[in-house]
Amino acid sequence: MTISTSRWIEPALVAALCLSCAPAAPAAEPDPATRLDLLARAYPETIARIGEGLIHFRDGGAPLAVDDGRSKSHAEAVAEGDVEDSLSQLYAAGACEAAPGVDHDPGRIRSDALMKRLYGGSARAVEEALVRVDWFGGTVRVTKRQGAASALGRVRDALAGRPDLRRYLAPSAGTFNWRRVAGQPNLSVHSFGAAIDLNTAFADYWIWSGGKPGRVPEYRNKYPMAIVEAFERQGFIWGGRWYHYDTMHFEYRPELIAIGAAAGVSACGQQGSE
Ligand SMILES: [Zn+2]
Repeated sequence: MTISTSRWIEPALVAALCLSCAPAAPAAEPDPATRLDLLARAYPETIARIGEGLIHFRDGGAPLAVDDGRSKSHAEAVAEGDVEDSLSQLYAAGACEAAPGVDHDPGRIRSDALMKRLYGGSARAVEEALVRVDWFGGTVRVTKRQGAASALGRVRDALAGRPDLRRYLAPSAGTFNWRRVAGQPNLSVHSFGAAIDLNTAFADYWIWSGGKPGRVPEYRNKYPMAIVEAFERQGFIWGGRWYHYDTMHFEYRPELIAIGAAAGVSACGQQGSE
């Protein structure tokens, strides 16, 4: 049968959708310019262009430097990453689960400065863009900016025909919450209304499991991969792919899904591996 769609779909996202059907040919890692191009394409609402090391915004505000010129340890990058740092680790999507390697936390490094430009620089500014999205018997408040709320709605629709998954999905443990990451100076992505935590009854979080900086407990996950796949297809990354795992957590980072697809990496292995 023919499937037609009237919606225009970002080519990079199409590539992400086809990860499971792509051949296992190793691909070159995208160079910095390609990563930045995919970043700009992921947020056309706000980013006008990126060039000469600067992100230029449609609102005409001050450009943001891609690179702060500092080299950082992984912990330092998580605490105070710049845009370049935020794109440094490849996110491998797909229906397969694997324990992440040491300090492989793709997406856990973010640029607070960029997130503020994308979603709002204060709790009040972020709240102005929050909308309610129906979520399996309740509603959640997420930002409509950058298409995040619409994307979450498509995740819900994709999973609506799977009543067996509902207990994992709801009640949501939270979406918008202006706060810092536990024990860190940087803001949680929940501050920007662009993340959702699923039913906490199935959650594994490296700190709840007894972890502390420098000592991360053994990886575990109870969420079915069909849920993860549905989120990733709409531009969300999963905290269950982090060495510092947070398995109930999903956040809207379409640039990382696109960069991973461009790199040819897959959670189901082989591609791009040595
Ligand atoms: Zn979360």
